Order: sequence, then C-alpha cells, then structure tokens
Amino acid sequence: MPVPEGGVALVTGGSRGIGKAIAERLAADGLTVVTLSRTSGDVQADVGDAESVAAAFAEVRAQHGPVLVLVNNAGESQDGLAIRMRTEQWESVIETNLNGAFHCIRQGLDDMLSARWGRIVNISSVVGERANPGQANYGAAKAGMLSLTRTIAREMGRKGITSNAVTPGVIETDMTVDVADKLKAGVPAGRIGQPEEVAHAVSFLCSDGAAYVNGATLAVDGGLGA
Ligand code: NDP
Repeated sequence: MPVPEGGVALVTGGSRGIGKAIAERLAADGLTVVTLSRTSGDVQADVGDAESVAAAFAEVRAQHGPVLVLVNNAGESQDGLAIRMRTEQWESVIETNLNGAFHCIRQGLDDMLSARWGRIVNISSVVGERANPGQANYGAAKAGMLSLTRTIAREMGRKGITSNAVTPGVIETDMTVDVADKLKAGVPAGRIGQPEEVAHAVSFLCSDGAAYVNGATLAVDGGLGA
C-alpha cells in the first residue's frame, strides 16, 4: 500500500547535506515532503526540544497533512576525547541526535496510528556500531537510535508501521568537510559516499516493497563497518 492519501513525509535536517538529498529523493518518488531544521526548511524547530517539536508537528498537520513518513536525520557532532569532553558537549549531542529522534517519533506515531500506516527511518551512523575515539557522545547517541529503532519496530509491528535505521559511513557533507580526505583511506570502497547514496536506501525503506522490513539496520558505508 502506498502512503495513504494526504499523508506527508517529514525529513528533519532536510535543509542540507544528507537530509536535503533524502527530501529530494522522496519528492521524486511522488511523496509530499516537508523539511524541518532550526534555521531553514519548511518548518523551523529544534528537535532536541520536545515543545518545539510538538509545535512543529501541529504546524505540519495543519498546513500539509498528517506525518506518515518520518525520517529522523537531524544531527550534530561535537567531538573530543571523553576525558576532555564537557558536559554541555555530551548533552547537546544526545539531545539533538537521540532525544530529537524520540520526540519526533512520539509525535509521528499519533498520526501513523490513526492511519494504521507509517514509515520511520532513523539516520544513525557506522559509529553507532563501531567505536570511534573522540565521539563518545555521538556514538552513544547513534547506538541509542539503533535500540530505539528496534524497540519501536516491535511495539508497532502489528499496526502497519515499520521502523528501520540506516548507518552511513563517511558521506560528503558539511559535517565531514574537514575529515573526509583523511578518512577515505580506511573505507574498503576507496572513496567517500554521496548523500544521494544514503537517500536511495531511505527511499527503499519507505517503499511498498519494504513493508516486511522492520527493525532492520541498513549500512551505507562502502564496507567501513564490515
Ligand atoms: P549536516 O551538518 O550537513 O546537516 C545537518 C542538518 O541537521 C541540517 O539541516 C541542520 O540544520 C539540522 N539540524 C542540526 N541540529 C538540529 C536540531 N537541533 N534541530 C533541527 N535540525 C537540526 O549533516 P549531514 O547531512 O552530514 O548529516 C545528516 C545526518 O546523517 C546526521 O544525523 C548525521 O549524524 C548522520 N551521519 C552523517 C555522516 C556523514 O558522513 N556526513 C555519517 C553518518 C551519519 P540547522 O543547522 O538549520 O538546524
């Protein structure tokens, strides 16, 4: 069954990088797409703030329709060895990457349960499964997203709602602009990935053909996590 009539796809962090490619790809698939970020996009909100997210979802519902496809892509990194990591660095990354996904899922599920149809895709990271020194906060948040993904899959499995994760490796965006060249050598594919390659995986997970894919983690990393 395709996205029910009137349903929209919400892509958090859809203003640039991987999120922008996902938004463009889902629109090309024929979905009505709404993007959300703090400073641009169709709706402005801080995903780490539950009240801000609730207000944003109310706005999206009123202006566009119920959120039946949710891509939790908004994310940030604030790297540093754990021994030197400030509490604010820890909290900010957990709030945006992990709490943000929860707040959006909590809102989106209301719409999806009413429609008895939904697709949730969480953009985690290879670092959620394979430790990267200097990213204790980011890795913990991304690992948490994987557990959240699977828990929602089990809780909602009978409701027509799927919950899956994508774990990108090194993708060419603003986030990796300073480190991409250095990291390239360690990627089995011998190159960094493009945002469109992540978007392709998200498109599959949102498609009719993926109705029986639930609780899965799909790596898009050129073999980095293998
Ligand atoms: P970018 O830094 O290019 O874009 C991040 C996006 O998230 C922007 O649209 C930004 O908009 C938005 N955003 C950040 N914080 C918040 C917030 N608190 N509330 C709402 N929106 C927010 O990142 P990428 O495209 O590289 O990454 C996208 C996702 O993919 C992230 O979750 C990242 O962790 C993950 N990822 C990226 C990899 C890579 O190599 N690039 C590898 C593995 C995973 P604004 O600033 O306006 O809020």
